Amino acid sequence: MYCKNCGTDLPDDALFCSECGAAVNSEQKETAVRSVPEMKSTSADRNDKIDGKLILGVTVFLTLLLVIVKIAL
Ligand SMILES: [Zn+2]
Repeated sequence: MYCKNCGTDLPDDALFCSECGAAVNSEQKETAVRSVPEMKSTSADRNDKIDGKLILGVTVFLTLLLVIVKIAL
């Protein structure tokens, strides 16, 4: 495998060119692209969990607020 940027001969499993530092190897790019949807779905799941916690926290807060208002009145 050769670096597309500078033409240096690189190992087939090289992620970056040792001479110029450019990212190399189309197979590595495909792997990176494949891993991106997984990362997105994982982050989306995390966001859902975070949103759920936020909603739960807001609900608890509002409930406590109502209880405090009822006691105060
Ligand atoms: Zn290079």
